[in-house]
Amino acid sequence: MYHQPVLKNRRTLLERAEKFISDAYFTDCNLRGRLYGESYPLESLSQFMSPKRITLMEAQTQSFTPYNVGDTFGPTWWTCWFKATLNIPECWRGKEVHVLWESDGEAMVWRDGQAVQGLTKEGEKTSYILSDCLTDKEPHSVTIYVEMACNGLFGAGNGSMIAPPDPNRKFSVQKAELVIFNREVRELMTDFEMLIDIVKELGEGEQRSYQALFTVNEMVNVSDPTDPSSFSGARSLAQKFFSQHNGQSQHTVHAMGHCHIDSAWLWPYEETIRKCARSWVTVIHLMKKNPDFVFTCSQAQQFEWVKCWYPGLFSEVQQYIKAGRFIPVGGTWVEMDGNLPSGESMVRQFLEGQLFFEQEFGMRCKEFWLPDTFGYSAQLPQIMQGCGISNFLTQKLSWNLVNTFPHNTFFWEGLDGSKVLTHFPPGNSYETKGKVEDLVKTVKQNKDKGRANHSVMLFGFGDGGGGPTQLMLDRLKRVQDTDGLPKIRMSSPDTFFSQLWADSHLLCTWAGELFLELHNGTYTTQAQIKRGNRQCETLLHDIEIASSLALCQDTTFQYPVGRLRELWRLLLLNQFHDVIPGSCIEMVVEDALRYYEDIRRRGAALLQDSLSALVSKGDATGVFNSLSWERFEVIQIQDGPSNELALVQVPSIGVNLIQETKPATPVCVTVQEDGSVLMENGIIRTVVKKDGTMASLHLISANREALSVGCCGNQFVMFDDVPMYWDAWDVMDYHLQTRRPVVEVVQPAHVLSSHELRGSVSFTLRISDKSTVTQEIVMDAMCPYIKFNTQVNWAESHKFLKVEFPVRVHSPNATYEIQFGHLQRPTHRNTSWDWARFEVWGHKWADLSEHNFGVALLNDCKYGYSVFKNTMTLSLLRAPKAPDANADMGCHHFTYAIMPHAGTFQDAAVIQCAYNLNFPLRLTPCSSDLALWSAFSISPAAVILETVKQAEGRKGALVVRMYEAYGGGVTATLHTTLPIREAWHCDLLEQTDTTQPACVTADGIILHFTPFQVRSLLLIFETASHQVKSGTS
Ligand SMILES: [Zn+2]
Repeated sequence: MYHQPVLKNRRTLLERAEKFISDAYFTDCNLRGRLYGESYPLESLSQFMSPKRITLMEAQTQSFTPYNVGDTFGPTWWTCWFKATLNIPECWRGKEVHVLWESDGEAMVWRDGQAVQGLTKEGEKTSYILSDCLTDKEPHSVTIYVEMACNGLFGAGNGSMIAPPDPNRKFSVQKAELVIFNREVRELMTDFEMLIDIVKELGEGEQRSYQALFTVNEMVNVSDPTDPSSFSGARSLAQKFFSQHNGQSQHTVHAMGHCHIDSAWLWPYEETIRKCARSWVTVIHLMKKNPDFVFTCSQAQQFEWVKCWYPGLFSEVQQYIKAGRFIPVGGTWVEMDGNLPSGESMVRQFLEGQLFFEQEFGMRCKEFWLPDTFGYSAQLPQIMQGCGISNFLTQKLSWNLVNTFPHNTFFWEGLDGSKVLTHFPPGNSYETKGKVEDLVKTVKQNKDKGRANHSVMLFGFGDGGGGPTQLMLDRLKRVQDTDGLPKIRMSSPDTFFSQLWADSHLLCTWAGELFLELHNGTYTTQAQIKRGNRQCETLLHDIEIASSLALCQDTTFQYPVGRLRELWRLLLLNQFHDVIPGSCIEMVVEDALRYYEDIRRRGAALLQDSLSALVSKGDATGVFNSLSWERFEVIQIQDGPSNELALVQVPSIGVNLIQETKPATPVCVTVQEDGSVLMENGIIRTVVKKDGTMASLHLISANREALSVGCCGNQFVMFDDVPMYWDAWDVMDYHLQTRRPVVEVVQPAHVLSSHELRGSVSFTLRISDKSTVTQEIVMDAMCPYIKFNTQVNWAESHKFLKVEFPVRVHSPNATYEIQFGHLQRPTHRNTSWDWARFEVWGHKWADLSEHNFGVALLNDCKYGYSVFKNTMTLSLLRAPKAPDANADMGCHHFTYAIMPHAGTFQDAAVIQCAYNLNFPLRLTPCSSDLALWSAFSISPAAVILETVKQAEGRKGALVVRMYEAYGGGVTATLHTTLPIREAWHCDLLEQTDTTQPACVTADGIILHFTPFQVRSLLLIFETASHQVKSGTS
């Protein structure tokens, strides 16, 4: 029987209930004021500061000094270890006893040598539960250690979250005491909170909202905060409301605990290891108390870290994985960027990830999981399918600045036609708090209502870790089936996607890339990281091919399985979605560049080892070509002032001696009367003006001028680059209105080389009073493109440097290389979807072609492009100041190239030229009788052999990966001179299809490709002896 309401006044009733659980108002008499009972001081509290992240064992040996609550300590990134001894009063028997710990920073509680609980105020974890119900048998004297990182969940940004960290931040503990925790008050408060939120979220249009209002008002009437015996009456009112059930057609929300932990972002990699431990130890604790609780967890690297540093925690995680409650998801090594990693890198993300999950947990992930990444390549569906994955979850496209993505549940069709079932949780978050608001949004914002009756809601503090809390679980438990709200079930991704698949006939399909209309500056920010990624991808490619070939040439050669895996894992780690995009703090950049240096240094040694094994020793010089076509190129034989050049011919995936070869047409360099320089090599003729721009770029065979009438190519341009908020991430459309050509000449163009094999011109421009660009424009004999070797001394603030080529081509679309293929994007701004792509990403090349003629713009370490109308632009350098105040400051080296061509870019071999620019021919000492040797070749040219490596865990077998690069179906023949006994088709995880032996003929292995298809073969060597000498796995 309810009390009569005084008036029809919704507001007063609602606010009355809100104030009853407020922690700011009326705590002297409301329910919230009773959450904690008696408190009792700690027996002692002492501290010691460590500049390094050390183990508990090390910490325990240090000398601790007394600490008074409120005292400050620091600086940022240090660790404060606390030792706390406590005595629980005996009279607290029967009570729930907590250590209440309110502090800045992120802390881990250690007890009896084990990590037991994460503490963070920002993640609403300020209690360490000593006893749920104190008994006399439990120890009353306890010593705990608290390891406190001097950084917050989101690092230590100075003034705002993404500002560079304040290196001298002070930290303190504001509260450290024993308290009695009144669980029944917490439970009743949660009832109140849920009902109040239902009143607010369902609003005045819903009768359920009013039913909740009168229920919650009556609960205030019957609750006496001073008399816990009154709570049960109030709780049963709430229970009655919550247990009024939904109809059968109601939407189902699949709730999954989650804790998005950026592998590095506003904190360094090392801190992430501790973030994982703090978050996961808490998850395990919650699992023990909540038998239904399910937690999803991505990134094999983080499991590997925990395995290494917290073996006790790892074995508990293993147990819960076995029980199907702690669920590894994603299948990748890290949650990588979805745009910039190469095709092979993306394959390796899955290969390393899935193999790790298989080895450690006996399972593979069935879904790809990338909730926070800045756009998704059109080649991902095929790569996922090739790695045993048919489902995909993200939500990042909800961040689009211009267009609202039309689906939440749909099929995503990739470049080759592969389809994966895709879900964007409609709550538009991967870190909800399990509140009514999140549930209501999940239905309200769902754009596939009626088509799909299931959605995902991920709950738990994320980005900096933290994860779910007991409160979140308690909220969800109350409203599992409550009329007016969606049904909730604690679920796994597998269960969820199975439900979707079972009823997917009404779902729509989105074809092509999932382009994020935001964060488009991340294709350019932190140029050294981009360069490190490209160069290391190239280096690992070459090491694998050279090592695979060496296996067949030298019976003593050991394939460097373990060392290569270490280097790959470093590369893959740096592809994390805040590292390769450049959206991280300076400390992370330093780590990343150190990892690249490590890969370069150790990789160079591995490459040299394998090349030495490949050829017999001697005083001559041999050349190794890792690409699957013959190359005819000018190379520099010696570093240094002599700059000796040679024109070399090297067969596909093979070696040859350096021999004197004359070019068909020598390069001719002429200084003209006006000071401009004319260079010609029989293929192209160009005129470089004194200011370094190109007045002409002429394709001789076609008799076509490539540059637009009255325009110059190679025009450097500067833009103001001030985004709305996300500095390192975003470049806004309005920056285009601030274009200023770079025109001030410091040193005019002059001839640097007029060798018959190489002509070059150099010049220097002033970009500003702080920055300069020096460039060498290089024309090689026999080469269809002109290279621009560029050095920029860069000391700008919020500026964007690009280079433009206005070309004489008319086309509504430009083509950009992506992973294992290419795609087109418009050159016009017809619709909002078109103009939102004013800055786009591509890999080694972009092309603008009309019928029978086009121009390609190649690069060796850049990713940002734009083509508007007939102007092709390559993005070179940015200068954001947050979160790294020194981003991109200093000296940069990079090369791009321009290539006019007749016919299509496919027929003109633009793709092969872009590979040539990126994969240098490698020199190695050898004997003078080295015979020309090719291990593999493939025809036609549309199919590119991308990867040769030793098969995982299979000595004596190689994996060869190829893809169709031109966008058309084709039958190809792979020739090899290696002693192959068997050939099998296999997937990207190298599992052979035993029903599908490859078609081996006298001419080679015959393979059929559909457009942009990636195919892998497992090749088994002829002789058993190879199995002995091919290294350990
Ligand atoms: Zn993230």
